[in-house]
Amino acid sequence: MNENDLIEIKNLRVSFPLDEGTVQALDGIDLSIPKGKVIGIVGESGCGKSITARSILQIIPPPGKIDQGEILLRTKLGSMNDDEHIIDLAKLKPDSDLLRQIRWGEISMVFQEPMTSFSAYHSLGDQIMEALLMHKDVSKEEARQAAIEMLDRVGIPNAAVRLNQFPHEFSGGMRQRAMIGMALICNPSMLIADEPTTSLDVTIQAQMLDLMKDLRRDFGSSIMFITHNLGVIAQIADEVSIMYLGKIVEQGTTMDIFHDQKHPYTSSLVEAIPKISDARKKRLTTIRGSVPSPFERPSGCPFHNRCPKMMPGVCDVKVPTPIDFGNGHKAACLLYE
Ligand code: SF4
Repeated sequence: MNENDLIEIKNLRVSFPLDEGTVQALDGIDLSIPKGKVIGIVGESGCGKSITARSILQIIPPPGKIDQGEILLRTKLGSMNDDEHIIDLAKLKPDSDLLRQIRWGEISMVFQEPMTSFSAYHSLGDQIMEALLMHKDVSKEEARQAAIEMLDRVGIPNAAVRLNQFPHEFSGGMRQRAMIGMALICNPSMLIADEPTTSLDVTIQAQMLDLMKDLRRDFGSSIMFITHNLGVIAQIADEVSIMYLGKIVEQGTTMDIFHDQKHPYTSSLVEAIPKISDARKKRLTTIRGSVPSPFERPSGCPFHNRCPKMMPGVCDVKVPTPIDFGNGHKAACLLYE
């Protein structure tokens, strides 16, 4: 594991055994998350973005399970002498004490809809304070003070009063800010943001992205930013991984992905970003076809039935492996083999 990496995922395979058949949600994921960087994970719905994130915290919805692979985390938690060491999260039991400490204490998560994380029956302040009281050795008054400072930090006005209010008394944008505050209250090494701006209107979306950039700078946390919107990624990520049907098909710096993309799927996603110069066009550019049913995975390259550059007799037969273009830029496409 590279000494700058906080997390390294190696050959991760996750499946869902269902009555209709087995869904291979992740099919051999390799991904590194360096300390203090924002890594964007992009792809259409059902490509495995959220399952990758949930695997890290072992909160995969049943009957999903990790079949194979490693999720290595560099941490001081669980060490006898408070030294940094590496643990494999995939080997921990989901209900183990160490994994409970890691959730929120070391890695926290923000979801698209904050109401899935907040309880409607407790004040926002109680819930934020509880996260701190569970993971840090602080008094109730210290936790209250820290919660007020954090709400203030994420831009919630009159924080001392709003701390006593319930989640339904906040607007969607304010709830999302509070969710980010709760996620950061224990000063985690990594924040996983799963479509955090998707349900917000564009002005609030821009404010949230600015807030996350400020927080990354101030707290030094790594961020795993999951979205189906490549336009959002351009504003926040240092590196990007493009996923399709449970595989990473291309990864590189944000510059590589936007200006030197190698995989036809990445090119299609970039072309589909609406541009002001296209305003006179009648139709937006789309990617032809749709993501295949997980029960009918195509043979060969998983993108071959939608790919404008598909080579018959090659792409529908052979499974592409990642080609290294240097400087961490990789793409799995038979055009380059
Ligand atoms: Fe397209 Fe073939 Fe490359 Fe797959 S391997 S992305 S089908 S050209």
